[in-house]
Amino acid sequence: MTFSAFYRSSLRPLSGVPLRTQLNTRRALHLAPPWLLDDYIPRYHLISSLDAAKKRSLAYAHLRECNLCPRLCGVNRYKTTGVCLIGAEKVKVNTIAPHFGEEPCLQGHNGSGSVFFSGCNLRCVFCQNHDIAHQRNGFDLTPEELAGWYMKLQEVGRCHNINLVTPEHVVPQVVLSILHARELGLRLPIVYNTSSFDSLESLELLDGLVDIYLPDFKVWSDKTSKRLLKADNYTATAMESIKAMHAQVGDLCFTGDGIAKKGVLVRHLVMPGKEDEGKEIVRWLAENVSKDIMVHIMEQYFPRAHVGKPRRGGKDPEVVEPGGVPATEGAKTQVRYADINRPVDLKEVASVTQAAKDAGLWRFVEAARHGGFNI
Ligand code: SF4
Repeated sequence: MTFSAFYRSSLRPLSGVPLRTQLNTRRALHLAPPWLLDDYIPRYHLISSLDAAKKRSLAYAHLRECNLCPRLCGVNRYKTTGVCLIGAEKVKVNTIAPHFGEEPCLQGHNGSGSVFFSGCNLRCVFCQNHDIAHQRNGFDLTPEELAGWYMKLQEVGRCHNINLVTPEHVVPQVVLSILHARELGLRLPIVYNTSSFDSLESLELLDGLVDIYLPDFKVWSDKTSKRLLKADNYTATAMESIKAMHAQVGDLCFTGDGIAKKGVLVRHLVMPGKEDEGKEIVRWLAENVSKDIMVHIMEQYFPRAHVGKPRRGGKDPEVVEPGGVPATEGAKTQVRYADINRPVDLKEVASVTQAAKDAGLWRFVEAARHGGFNI
């Protein structure tokens, strides 16, 4: 029996015992509902100094021979760079600020303290953060300087968490920054906001330091991941990664103020014409990870990055309008990735949500309609 089934069955009246008595009995036991925490201490405060020292030296070792993501470059990042184009001593950061575009349970009233890293180990043709992830714009920070910014997000921004956005390629520096920040007095939960193109070694390094995993599960078929993410083996990697994340922190838990503190929240951005892939993903989550896993089925896909740009080499003389009349100049111009060059239809989103419900998932995130905190 799953935890949710157990919880629901525990609410059924017992025969012969008045419901009021049963409710009073339950209240007297002071049992918190599942996933509700009285208080929360971030995991990085619970690891010993010895484990912290081991993590530091492992982080440096990984940078000297980097196989930290499935690209497996094997380079010494003190001397050169791999596919992600980021070295060892500094990370490149595009923006650090309280962010109000996240799920209500993460952004709360004061915002999620977000750090948007430049660079990425994927090359999604539809990237919704193209200007940040695909271009190396931004400023360079050491892990110690990064820790200083976490403190500003806590002390000045009064943010609810530290949200590391696209951090897969800078995990060693992130580890060093969290360990430094705990010495400076950081008390906020750490959110690891990832594409799920992580290696198990990388997630092991993060174990004990991350409180909330926020993985995307983007596409289901290898053909699609190769074409749209420019990555082989994405789906198998995402499956393995999400299972490892869930084994570390479990299902999403909240404190009484409605702010998430620990656990996994999976995002799936429904893509135009690809709702069948979304259905496979939600079914897999229900059957292989947890029916109680928190899921955000997202509808905000919009053509960006390379989608809809004119094709190189350009015009197709065969193009004709319906009826056989010669095509206009505009119609002759073919665009790249034309099949996903439209916003997603809400019917497509609804069909993925229904498949998730049919599979037994029931904990869904609703985006804040007014851009604020709506729980
Ligand atoms: S993190 Fe960067 S250098 Fe390391 S394996 Fe991945 S792409 Fe290559």
